[in-house]
Amino acid sequence: MLSSFELFKVGLGPSSSHTTGPMKAALRFTRYLADQTRGQKVTKLDVRLYGSLALTGGGHHTDRAIMLGLCGQKPQDTEPEEADALIERIASTKTLSLGGQIPIKFDPETDIRFEGETSLPFHTNAMRFSAFDGQGDMIASRIYYSIGGGFVVDEDEAGRNARDVSNGPPKHVYANAKELLAAADKAGLSIAQLMLENECVTRSRADVLAGLDGIWGHMQACMEHGLHREGLLPGALRVRRRAPALYTKLKVQNPDPKVSCERSDWVNLWAMAVNEENASGGRVVTAPTNGAAGVLPAVINYYLHFVGGADAAGVRTFLLTAAAIGGLYKRNASISGAEVGCQGEVGVACSMAAGALAAVLGGTNAQIENAAEIGMEHNLGMTCDPVGGLVQIPCIERNAFGAAMAIQAARLALLGDGKHSISLDEVIKTMRETGRDMSTKYKETAQGGLAVNIVEC
Ligand code: SF4
Repeated sequence: MLSSFELFKVGLGPSSSHTTGPMKAALRFTRYLADQTRGQKVTKLDVRLYGSLALTGGGHHTDRAIMLGLCGQKPQDTEPEEADALIERIASTKTLSLGGQIPIKFDPETDIRFEGETSLPFHTNAMRFSAFDGQGDMIASRIYYSIGGGFVVDEDEAGRNARDVSNGPPKHVYANAKELLAAADKAGLSIAQLMLENECVTRSRADVLAGLDGIWGHMQACMEHGLHREGLLPGALRVRRRAPALYTKLKVQNPDPKVSCERSDWVNLWAMAVNEENASGGRVVTAPTNGAAGVLPAVINYYLHFVGGADAAGVRTFLLTAAAIGGLYKRNASISGAEVGCQGEVGVACSMAAGALAAVLGGTNAQIENAAEIGMEHNLGMTCDPVGGLVQIPCIERNAFGAAMAIQAARLALLGDGKHSISLDEVIKTMRETGRDMSTKYKETAQGGLAVNIVEC
């Protein structure tokens, strides 16, 4: 079972697989290095990025993330401004503080190499870290894979298929949606209640509830920043942030979203505010990834603003249900755009939000499963083709569409009785196979689709 607190992680934008994951990998390498070298002096580091990490790593700030991790920074604790200052210092002094303690010469231009023509077999998001002593002899080397949503495995864990890093044995065991529904039915629980009981195996109930409130708090803070920060997003595309102007316009037209006729305008706004903040390198909660981080917060805000009786308990139910659904994709398919295209990011977020909204609107477990299935069914085949390798076009608007589709999917499922032709497990399997068959051009490499038809200026 994947915990809500593993799926929803606070980190820096713009990408969970290309920013948060590499930062965690670099941090892990510093610890591995300290363990392996035991006093041997490291004088040089060499970092190689492969596959999708190399091809879109520039636009996704992978090199920055690597340097931050090597300096001992953790994604959940690093403030964006602090990160900017550290990177500037490394660039100007050509020195990096390894693990936050040992100064070492480091030139980002030559010590981080992007080798996009090489792919390692386990996963396209691969990176190798090597350390050398004063004689130029290699004293440690390690490969890590960023497998989506900020999850990282090293070369040993990859061999052991350590994709799910569980916090402990769950109370209710399930491997797919069918088993989840059966377990919930047997225990007489909703999906959220079952998920809560599983979370309480390793934490107190009070801690779990406070943790869920904290996740929503971080999501709100991110959205709030996005609503107010104006200007251009980083990168050659010079994309202007649209959320602040849209927010002003909507407030003038209708100051209270609760009585707004144009609910979809607000949902668009909330999703885009989060993803513009993500694109700028701000603090974001993976849901299930950074690139798809706007869908869930926008649909939660839809619930809070437009559904009578909505409350904080409902938000917890929403997050727990969404996490249960997201965990099924993580376990049985992928949440990595580099592995299965955008169906694994915005598609999965749409499915999670659809099921979760159905839950807080009073849906049965069968209707929740139906909503999650609809949410993915119409995202099957969606490619990942970020223009300029930046998480901006089509990513920002795509989150707005993911949120809108999630609301439609939930409403459609609630009109039925939960009986339907295609199961969630079947659509997850289809998504996995579609991703496997998809050309690598459309899997976060910026080598196909919009990425090659839009000219960077
Ligand atoms: S197109 Fe989708 S999967 Fe690709 S970077 Fe954008 S949000 Fe992520």
